Order: sequence, then structure tokens, then C-alpha cells
Amino acid sequence: MSVTTKAIGAAKKIKRRFDAQIKARTPVYLSPTRRIERVALKERVAAMTFDDGPCRTPANPSAPGDATPLTVRIAETLEKYGARGTFDVVGDTSGNYPDKAGKEGSAEWGGIKFDHYPDFGKDADGGAVNCPELIERLLKGNHEITSHTYAHVLFGPKRPVYGGRDPLGGVDPVIEDLARLDSYMKESFGYNIKLSRPPHYVDKMKDGFTSYDAYALMGYQYMAASFDGAGWLPLSDYESEVEAMYMPIRKELSTNADFFCGQIIFQKDGYNMARRSPVADGLERQLELLYSRGYRIVTASELLEMCPFADLSPDEELFEYAKRLLGAGYCVCYKDNTTRKDSTLTRGELAMMTRGASTVRERIEIVRKRISPTSDVRYDDPYAAAIKASIDAGELSLSGGRFFPKTEVTPKEFGDFCEVRFGKAPTISQERLTHGTAIKAMAELI
Ligand SMILES: [Zn+2]
Repeated sequence: MSVTTKAIGAAKKIKRRFDAQIKARTPVYLSPTRRIERVALKERVAAMTFDDGPCRTPANPSAPGDATPLTVRIAETLEKYGARGTFDVVGDTSGNYPDKAGKEGSAEWGGIKFDHYPDFGKDADGGAVNCPELIERLLKGNHEITSHTYAHVLFGPKRPVYGGRDPLGGVDPVIEDLARLDSYMKESFGYNIKLSRPPHYVDKMKDGFTSYDAYALMGYQYMAASFDGAGWLPLSDYESEVEAMYMPIRKELSTNADFFCGQIIFQKDGYNMARRSPVADGLERQLELLYSRGYRIVTASELLEMCPFADLSPDEELFEYAKRLLGAGYCVCYKDNTTRKDSTLTRGELAMMTRGASTVRERIEIVRKRISPTSDVRYDDPYAAAIKASIDAGELSLSGGRFFPKTEVTPKEFGDFCEVRFGKAPTISQERLTHGTAIKAMAELI
């Protein structure tokens, strides 16, 4: 094993451990915002997301005399293969001053208190607002634009890696930031953003709200990724960095050619901590490997249109029902984008499934004013607003002032619920009501 391979292994191990910690800390509830890492697609289709661009400065090291902006280089490479990328852009980082550049090769390379893209002091050469010609170019190539926020300021505090950073103050400033890029894309390009990824995946805000709350208010889904394309990784030299981008893909494909089905591959439209951009050459090598195995690279939204779920593939009976219900605004999935069709449905979950998407704003209010809807449902229960709405609509009732959110829904109770909500009751033959049964029954009634 070479020194380079070892270094990549160690860095990836740290990142995996970090990702696992995030996962363990994320409680799982039904949610209007789903965190999308990969989908249950069996076809050889995947997506690639490019963070932190657009970038007007050329690739580094650049070919002699080639001043092509990095973003254009990435787009051209994708288009050569008929691939479409997902560019997770920022708006503008020039407001993130006063600040100082940090140590080269560290997480603070581009700024101590904030991030600056494409580099410290070069904010004018990056961001959608400063580079509208690059956004236009991407849209012309049918690539997708997603929101990596306007200013790439952390949503909340993050220790130890980003302990010196100055985060946003809570959900209101986060919404303000997201809305800024959203309206810019709408007004300047008539473009509707659907997906977003928080800077450095920091979810928790100072006021206790999270990225999920902000995205629910914006009507976004949370775009994560399932495979690291390694373009962010600084190694001893450029060649090693390029190698680190395609060798792991080659390795995975050699043991399982279907490995990348439904995956979202994380890439970078910018420089790594060593101020190089291996993506300029690494991407081509990745695409060569994937397309030689019959893969297609589509946008993240196209991938989600083909299969929105992490645990339900298009060949399963429930798929079309779940997709229909999801399309009608029902909270069919948990935060981790699973449907968990065989788990038993609880009363709290039935309320959330049917009322969660329309009570996003109410949930924020309930938490802020600390109004618990019933004696056994606290204000900070993620289902509190949906439960209150279900009770108010007469769809679910209280017993002695209590709601019993964790109690299983009986088929009889579900029938009564459907009678009120849809004016018609389904025939349920099972004794235990699962998520799958409820999803199918409601999809047939809407
Ligand atoms: Zn970023």
C-alpha cells in the first residue's frame, strides 16, 4: 500500500466516522424534508453533485494557455459523455469579511471565520451572483442548480473542526440566506431550486431548529451524498489527487458493477485545501469508468423522479402508491428517506403522514411559544403541529385529554380516520396496520 493510498484511507476513515456520528445523532421521524443519500434504483444510473461553485478561475494546475473557468471545464467534460451534473452553488461569499486566511492545507485554508469561494480574497470570481454567465452556461447544458446557500455560512456552531467559525444565528437568518439565492435564481433565470445541502453538513442551529425545518419551509429536499468523489482531498501532489478520485471507483466496479446504481457521488466545483482542482482531470477518468460499465449520470432531481425512496425500488408493488402519495404532499418517508413499509403505524405517525407537510410553519410557532397541544404531546415533539391539526380537523380524537401518539393505529381506527378525511373507508384485512398498508390504502383514496 502506497503512502498516498494510506493517507486517502485514513482521511476517508475519519470522514466515514464523522458521517456515522451525524447519522447516529439524527433522530428518525416522518418528515416533509427527506435526507437523500442514495435511492433504491437497480438501473445503472447515478448522480454527481458539485459543491461550492460556480468557479470562474481556471483549473489548477492549468494546461498552458487554458483560461477556461473550472465550472465550464466540468460541464464540458460531463457533456462529452452526455452526462448532466448537479451544481450545488453558492450565491456570493464576498460579504464574509473581515476575515483572515487560515493555514494552507487546513480546513481553514479559505478563511478563519468564514468560507470564501473560489478562494480567500477572490470572492468576485465565484458564486452565482458574481458569475451569471456560468449559471447560464450550466442551464444551457441542462445541468441542475441546487442551493448550497447564499453565503456558505454555517447554519450552527460546529466543534471541533469549525470551532473558529461564525455561524448564522438561527432558523430566521438561515431562511433569509436561502431565500436570497432562491429569489436570485427565480428572478434572474426563472429557475426553481428544489434541493439544498448545508455548508459542511452542519444541521443544528443555535435556536434548536435544524436544516430540516429550514428546508421544509423552503419546500426543499435535503441533498446528501452516498459516495465521496474525493476531489476535496489534499494529497502530496496533483497526480495522487487525481488518482484518489478514480481508483476507488475502479475498485468498487471491479467487485460489483452495480455498485453505483442510485448513488449520489460527491464532487467539488472548486479547489481543495491545497488549492488544486483534481476534478479537472479526475472527473473524466471517473466518467470513463462509469460509462464503460453502462452507467448514465443524471441530475439529482431526475434520479429522484426515477426513484424517490431509499428503501423502495420501482419494481416493488408499493412503489407507485408511495410515489403518488408523496407527490400529493404526504409525509410518506422518514427523515432518512425510508418508508419502512413493514413497521407498524402509530397515531402520531398517521397525523404526521397526512398533516405534516401543511403544518411546517405551525410547528415552528408551537416550538417558539412552547404550546404543548395535549397533555402527552410536548411542544417540541416533531409531530406536535400535525397532531394538533388532526385533532382540530376531527380526524383523530383525544381520550381523557390525551392523544397517545406512540400507540398503534388499529384497522378500525384507520377506517374511521379515512371516513372523515376522504369520505370513504378502505377494507383492511390485516390485524396490524403497517406503513405499507396505510400508504396503499390512502393512495387509492386520494
Ligand atoms: Zn461547501
